[in-house]
Amino acid sequence: MFNFRFGRHLAIAEESYDFPPFRPPSEADSLLVRVTRGCPWNRCAFCPMYKHIKFEKRPIADIKRDIDTAATFTGGRVETVFIGDSDSLVIKTEDICKILDYLYAAFPSVSRTTSYARAHTLKLKSIQDLRKIRKAGLTRLHIGLETGSPRLLKHIRKGATPETMIHGCTRAKGAGFEVSVYVLLGIGGMASWKEHATATARVLNEIDPDFVRVRTITPQPGTPLFQWWTEGSFEMPDPETILKEQKAIIEGLSITCQYLSDHVSNYAPVHGNLPDDKSAMLSVIDTTLEKLSKDEDFRARLEKMRYLRRL
Ligand code: SF4
Repeated sequence: MFNFRFGRHLAIAEESYDFPPFRPPSEADSLLVRVTRGCPWNRCAFCPMYKHIKFEKRPIADIKRDIDTAATFTGGRVETVFIGDSDSLVIKTEDICKILDYLYAAFPSVSRTTSYARAHTLKLKSIQDLRKIRKAGLTRLHIGLETGSPRLLKHIRKGATPETMIHGCTRAKGAGFEVSVYVLLGIGGMASWKEHATATARVLNEIDPDFVRVRTITPQPGTPLFQWWTEGSFEMPDPETILKEQKAIIEGLSITCQYLSDHVSNYAPVHGNLPDDKSAMLSVIDTTLEKLSKDEDFRARLEKMRYLRRL
């Protein structure tokens, strides 16, 4: 699969092509198309992603020009596409549909087109508009739940309540999208991991997503969370606590979905299809916990991953 971001035409393409700076790990091989720049919310306490980018909707003519450029360099041979930046559905429904029509005309072989979306934005779109966008070819939405705890959601300034998350995600599912929900392990700190785990499992059960993806919190410089951490009001959970938290979330899930730990930040490779693989997934966590209790080298290696996460 041609990777347009890192392909051999990068030097030429950079002159005329605007790339989304972030994409989910599962979109590593996808063509990247930038529809907006930055995040219209940009206030989450843990998130450094778009802090220095002023949010803007790109002109449709510029997006079409990028699609033309990509079509030239790939010969139209693209199977999956990721649309950036953080909340593409914030643009008008007719505009996203025009962009999708143009994209599929340029790349008829595309089988999956995905985007990040905020639950709040999904809640504001009518079900008719969501269906139109789905019909135009946007197939999957990556949505950041982070936690199901109302208190923690407020504290981390997510701009959404659990009810907003449930409403936005179930509406997207109802419109036919595949829904992929992100959970942020450790966001409750040492003090609130049980609250985070219990509430997150509850909200995930309500949403009933197609995918649950976890990543582990690392306070990033320049964010409020980093400040809370350095001041001591946020205590970063140790590996045991993160694993116990993840175990409690999985134990609490009663849905059918794919569960993935496809991020470098995670301590254990916990993947599987729920409910069938639940026991195997829990046993990966138990084995990791046991190893942690006996093997100081293993612990040191896991702790070092915290530094890796900041790269
Ligand atoms: S986590 Fe998502 S919604 Fe929050 S500031 Fe970052 S990009 Fe925006």
